[in-house]
Amino acid sequence: MAADLETIVGDIVATIGSADDRGSVASYIPELAKVDPGQFGIAIATADGDMITGGGCAVGFSIQSISKVFALTLALGKVGDQLWERVGREPSGTAFNSIVQLEHEHGIPRNPFINAGAIVVTDINLGGHQPRVAIGEMLRFLRYLAGDDDIAINEAVAASETASGFRNMALANYMRAFDNVRHPVDLVLGAYFHQCAIEMSCRQLALAGRYLMLDGRHPDGGRVVSPRRARRINALMLTCGHYDASGDFAFRVGMPGKSGVGGGILAIVPGRASIAVWSPGLNASGNSHLGTLALEELARRAGWSIFSPA
Ligand code: GLN
Repeated sequence: MAADLETIVGDIVATIGSADDRGSVASYIPELAKVDPGQFGIAIATADGDMITGGGCAVGFSIQSISKVFALTLALGKVGDQLWERVGREPSGTAFNSIVQLEHEHGIPRNPFINAGAIVVTDINLGGHQPRVAIGEMLRFLRYLAGDDDIAINEAVAASETASGFRNMALANYMRAFDNVRHPVDLVLGAYFHQCAIEMSCRQLALAGRYLMLDGRHPDGGRVVSPRRARRINALMLTCGHYDASGDFAFRVGMPGKSGVGGGILAIVPGRASIAVWSPGLNASGNSHLGTLALEELARRAGWSIFSPA
């Protein structure tokens, strides 16, 4: 299988990775607008312990909303299913930064992967501590999952979003009015912006996602989450991981996936693979254009849609 995968990945890098139509890089966070859209990387960590890579698989990029998967995992570890009293688990059908549903739904965000939901998750992870404690915990968690102590925050990206994140400030303040954000808004957003500004390569991200392909186990034998929790996180990634394009991603790719406006996508094939792709140009829904195409091709050629029989 590994040899076949190498061929598939080589083909994907040569064709999709060098396509002319690459989407546009996110510009609402000024620091992200500086990223060269010509880049492309892919890494696949298989359940057998192989690693297949292509393109700029070792280049660090801003994981942005992909961090929401790891933040949710940590928050569930702290408060368990009580989390669902403050965050829903339905697809929103709206953009990642939408505020419109919050008024009708009394400050309870539709799911943990839209910004509003992730801000509540961050509020839970703060747990009365200063942002640096929560950020330190997140970094330690990612380093443990990936087995790599070099994972770090890009402070310029964090500062850039802190200076320009007015919509997230509005979301956090709005939910504070409903008592669904409980720490001071600047502390919650401080932690949230730094978590989004973590930089990882495709290789590091594919390694970090392995517990979701292994039913909650770390490949070193330790348990990260229970099988039930791993399955639930994958279910949320499938239904909510690409915002209002989650249905389209499930239709085209057929894997639980989580995107970020840095152009990365983490996709999981339970029992088989943890995949990271990265290309900074985004489609109209704010998801990596070429990253989605690459996963679509990979799913087709490797037979990795979760809907295809094993
Ligand atoms: N930090 C970004 C924001 O809050 C994350 C959004 C994303 O990656 N979709 O707007």
